[in-house]
Amino acid sequence: MSDETQPASPAERAVAELTATWSVEPDGVWVAPGRVNLIGEHVDYNGGRCLPMALTRVTAAAVRVRDDDRVRVSSDDPDAKPFEGRIGQLGPGCADGWAAYVAGTLWALREAGIEVPGLDIAVASDVPLGAGLSSSASLESAVAVAAAELAGRADEPALRHLMVQAAIRAENEVVGANTGGMDQTVAMLAEDGAALLIDTKDFSTGPVHLGLAEAGLQLLVIDTRVRHALADGQYGKRRADCEQAAAILGLQYLADATLADVERLADPQLRARARHVVTEVERVDRFVELVRAGRIAECGPLLDASHASLRDDYEVSAVELDTVVAAATGAGALGARMTGGGFGGSAIALVPTDAVPVVSHAVVRACQDRGLTVPGTLAVTSGAAARRAS
Ligand code: ADP
Ligand code: MG
Repeated sequence: MSDETQPASPAERAVAELTATWSVEPDGVWVAPGRVNLIGEHVDYNGGRCLPMALTRVTAAAVRVRDDDRVRVSSDDPDAKPFEGRIGQLGPGCADGWAAYVAGTLWALREAGIEVPGLDIAVASDVPLGAGLSSSASLESAVAVAAAELAGRADEPALRHLMVQAAIRAENEVVGANTGGMDQTVAMLAEDGAALLIDTKDFSTGPVHLGLAEAGLQLLVIDTRVRHALADGQYGKRRADCEQAAAILGLQYLADATLADVERLADPQLRARARHVVTEVERVDRFVELVRAGRIAECGPLLDASHASLRDDYEVSAVELDTVVAAATGAGALGARMTGGGFGGSAIALVPTDAVPVVSHAVVRACQDRGLTVPGTLAVTSGAAARRAS
């Protein structure tokens, strides 16, 4: 197929996938964004604050209501096999691989009292999968907004919060990924044109207008295109370390510890993990203060400090991430850090707009010189929350 005949947007591709795989026309198409986390990493399961931004890149779900209780799901991702089941039989263990994100979301919505009917679903995405940009929450969120609307629910704040919790349940209980709630919250509640400050103690949120363009700055995502196999197991270990540290300190949330509390932890590993969480939440607050004062150009050192903390205290970086972060700052970025869970995935850099080509070139060169996988770079702007597209 030539480029001209290739459907361009995720929405168009999702419709094409629905027609090709299930031979039906959609009742509608819904989309939900990927995200990049500016700062506040590995704090969302510790009651901390974080500052993700929804992207203009989305997962689209083309959906048709069925007149029976069957659910059929497909994706145009070549690694994703179609899944079929009955709506009342979805739940933990019902699906594995990619289909668990979709089946899990439908199940959790029903558990929350939303009477999702039988559905034919097809998805397509331009959020890179597994790159730390949360293709998973964008998939869950696109499916959730589609299913809730087709179940007859009016879009309102209470429903949005319910859908966030359902998507988190899907990922925790059906996919089996013990993640916090940052990704689902921003996919569902982001405000277009702003980053979203999330307090993961109560999932309250507020927009933070970055003013990047006004400051002559560009946010650059550097996808290392590497994801180390140890990522999932290590994620659970970090979470367990945090729970243990909080328990020793007698706190419900590790984010509530002071640095003096942290120094009381006898075990050096627990102390390092806790130090990351406590200092990271401080950096988030400082970052937001600077941005709100129109001083985003001064936020670079906070990104650098976040990276050092994730690398040295939390130990979730990787040689590829360290390489691109050092190369970006060496070539003129004001600051850079790994973003997302770590062990590969993506980094972000805060870059003067006119330095974007030089920085992009430098990160590619640095990886080539070390024999590492060549990274991709992506200049990103903020996008809107999950919504109906057509
Ligand atoms: P991230 O959320 O950072 O992209 P995850 O490992 O959390 O990384 O989620 C990636 C997984 O989500 C993929 O391996 C796949 O199972 C699933 N996924 C996301 N988007 C799609 C899609 N469009 N089609 C099929 N599976 C998808
Ligand atoms: Mg994910």
